[in-house]
Amino acid sequence: MAQVYHKTSDEIELIRQNCMLVSKTLAYVGSLLRPGITGAIIDQKAEEFIRDHGALPGFKNLYGFPATLCISLNDAVVHGIPSDREFTDTDIVSIDCGVYDNEFFGDAAFTFAFPEVNDDVMDLLSVTNASLYLGIEQAVSGNRIGDVSSAIQQHCERVHGYGIVRELVGHGLGRNLHEGPEVPNFGSRGRGHKILDGLVIAIEPMVNQGRRQVKQSTDGWTIVTRDGKPSAHFEHTIAVIEGKPDILSDHSIIETELKNNEEIKNFSIKS
Ligand code: MG
Ligand code: MG
Repeated sequence: MAQVYHKTSDEIELIRQNCMLVSKTLAYVGSLLRPGITGAIIDQKAEEFIRDHGALPGFKNLYGFPATLCISLNDAVVHGIPSDREFTDTDIVSIDCGVYDNEFFGDAAFTFAFPEVNDDVMDLLSVTNASLYLGIEQAVSGNRIGDVSSAIQQHCERVHGYGIVRELVGHGLGRNLHEGPEVPNFGSRGRGHKILDGLVIAIEPMVNQGRRQVKQSTDGWTIVTRDGKPSAHFEHTIAVIEGKPDILSDHSIIETELKNNEEIKNFSIKS
């Protein structure tokens, strides 16, 4: 189990700056998305955007990952490598972004939909997005990580019958992209690491429309659903401050792009 480092308020502010740049990058990416554009182009634009803001792409070369963004289409859950495949009007695409600056990371993700995505898949996005906030609500001091995990699992599995991925989890974040504690999207209330002020965690439900089982694709990176059905992914980094969760990333600026860009599908997100 990776070590847990509690952060000072100054450190949390540095992480917040990074998470805001991640959010701005995701909103910028949202403004560029349209059927026909490729993940490779989006990735290059995102890298320029981050470097123009004086930061470094947080994922690039980390563990050997080759790109700035993880771009995961349809049945890809996470860790997709940007490619020259053109987006189509029925795709959903999870875009996960990290930055590094001032010796700290920032991390957030959002799943976008193109205009002809069907209602059942849009429901998957809405439910996954809502579960993120149900999890965040539980990140109060005195609770345990299992309270966060259980809230996400209950909503997605028990209420909506989706499959929660078990192999990949949220994580502590700070000077390292991945620190303790692990933040699974399944678990039992009252169990796991105790939540206290200064804890900074990325909460990131990965939810499959069908069964929960996943496998690694032959590229060595992309995680895909075994049954080939679509998967959604939303992520915020949060800090526990004065007993309560403070969301350091910001999906509301992405929501603005959902409204402004007619080439992607608007849906009601919680932010
Ligand atoms: Mg991420
Ligand atoms: Mg993460």
